[in-house]
Amino acid sequence: MSTFQELGLNNDLLQAITDLGFTKPSEVQEKAIPILLNDETDLVALAQTGTGKTAAFGFPMLQKIDIDSRTTQGLILSPTRELCLQITNEMKQYGKYCKGLNVVAIYGGSSITDQAREVKRGAQIIVATPGRMKDMISRRLVDISKIQYSVLDEADEMLNMGFKEDITDILSHTPEDKNTWLFSATMPREVATIAKKFMHSPQEITVGNKNESTNNVSHEYYLVNSRDRYQALKRLADANPDIFSVIFCRTKRDTQKVAENLIEDGYSAGALHGDLSQNQRDLVMKSFRNQQIQMLVATDVAARGIDVDDITHVINYQLPDEIETYTHRSGRTGRAGKTGISMVIVSKSEVRKIKSIERIIKQQFEKKDIPDGMEICEVQLMSLANKIHNTEINHEIDKYLTSINTLFEDSTKDELIKKFFSVEFTRFYNYYNKSKNLNIAEGSFDRDGGREGGRGFGSKNDSTRYFINVGAKDGFDWMKLKDFLKDVLQLGRDDVFKVEVKDSFSFFNTENEVKEKVLAFFTDYKHEGRFVNVEVSENRGGGKRNDRRGGGKRDGRGGGRRDDRKNGSGNRNDRRGGGDSYSKSRRSGSDSNSSSDRPRRSDSNSNSGKPSFDRPRRSRR
Ligand code: AMP
Repeated sequence: MSTFQELGLNNDLLQAITDLGFTKPSEVQEKAIPILLNDETDLVALAQTGTGKTAAFGFPMLQKIDIDSRTTQGLILSPTRELCLQITNEMKQYGKYCKGLNVVAIYGGSSITDQAREVKRGAQIIVATPGRMKDMISRRLVDISKIQYSVLDEADEMLNMGFKEDITDILSHTPEDKNTWLFSATMPREVATIAKKFMHSPQEITVGNKNESTNNVSHEYYLVNSRDRYQALKRLADANPDIFSVIFCRTKRDTQKVAENLIEDGYSAGALHGDLSQNQRDLVMKSFRNQQIQMLVATDVAARGIDVDDITHVINYQLPDEIETYTHRSGRTGRAGKTGISMVIVSKSEVRKIKSIERIIKQQFEKKDIPDGMEICEVQLMSLANKIHNTEINHEIDKYLTSINTLFEDSTKDELIKKFFSVEFTRFYNYYNKSKNLNIAEGSFDRDGGREGGRGFGSKNDSTRYFINVGAKDGFDWMKLKDFLKDVLQLGRDDVFKVEVKDSFSFFNTENEVKEKVLAFFTDYKHEGRFVNVEVSENRGGGKRNDRRGGGKRDGRGGGRRDDRKNGSGNRNDRRGGGDSYSKSRRSGSDSNSSSDRPRRSDSNSNSGKPSFDRPRRSRR
């Protein structure tokens, strides 16, 4: 492993790198920087976002251009405005000690005159989206005839988005002998064609699938009937109270519809697609970045360049038409060293695509069941219990305590706890009590349990499911928790299975025969100074669940429509506040298809925009 210094970067860049806190080069940087610094060459690099590729081409470009000259020498083309701004920002940070450097962003939806003025001041580097760049060239507002280095960033995305002609046109205005550096996450035929057409004997590097982002993502799929897709989505959200996710749909129409439905059902959701104005999109993205929106429903095109680090889940509501696009979708999670989950909701007719995707991502999917109602109730209840346990007391309450104490004079602690939790739980329970099983059998397409050591995901009646009060917040992901459990319990690798890590608690299974051992061990066990509590869970997690389900008819509870809340563009999500996850779910969970069937809180005031005890504005994490 080299250092940045050993890669040959100059002091101005090294100082900026120190300021940024980058301690060592990433894989793509280690491979690309020496080539680009030392050779006048074209380059094809297979690397995803999140691997540090901007710096991989950015550092060499900054070092090689003549900053004393005001001529435009570097051109970086990127698919979206978001990415364009992001790259510009990064380049400015990397080049902050390069005196006289001017990096200008050129993108649609913003004043072309202002951008032209910026360029005229002397931009050594232009970062542009193809559409606006072509426009600027045809209006003679930029001169790229002296470009020495051009970068095609996310080349596969640019081609997907139909920029092939624009790119061809733009490059025709650049010198023949410039160097072209192409970065792409995938290498479909179109990218190879572009490489062949515009590049001369390019050197090639691959960061492969072993990059940080894909390694940190686990892939799951859920097999349901097409008509149950939306219900499945809601259950996945309800089973993950702290979800912060991007949900991908195939079309703008579906994107809008799913977002509208989620909003109407009480989730903090927003839509992001090309039919929204730039201003609307900016607002949705702002809410998402601030985590006021928990579920961003997006088209592939609109979601390009989303650079938000904390996304916990990517949900493929529908699979993309081009399965290569899956890589981009799942790469939105598991960033910046965090783990993430990419979930796919598939119908029977699509399930074969999972195999093709596995070949592309070189990783196995785990087939999982959509949780049943009682599992969701338990998860939500325990999430609420943990939240309450960790809540700091607000002493403003003290002055009301005498009255409250008088009211509960005759209640025992036990009763009080039960009543307190019943406020939320009963509504939730009533709601999910009669929910149907959404899972369908896979038929001939039989699969094993993937990363859970090959255990089937069918019935497992001889196993016990446990609840444990540690989770992601304590630094566990499923793999770490499994390792931890098998170490402390001295069990074999396959003896702990169905490990499911939530934010502040988790579930796991063992064979029934070690149940006593597990429970006995955790009666008095401390992890990092905290008692670890393990209990047998009602949620069987992969066991036969249907026996507990009640017949599948909706409960038909009513509540009026709240059409005024239906928007889907996300612009009004500011009214919605995050709402804590438990209260959100209780507003959500209906398994019915028609909104008139959805259970509502009888005392719901959630449309008022006023603060309420059950729907506080919250900032996540
Ligand atoms: P990119 O793949 O260019 O989108 O980069 C992803 C993120 O990683 C950006 O926020 C960069 O600032 C950051 N980054 C790039 N190189 C490094 C490095 N060597 N060490 C740590 N972070 C880095």
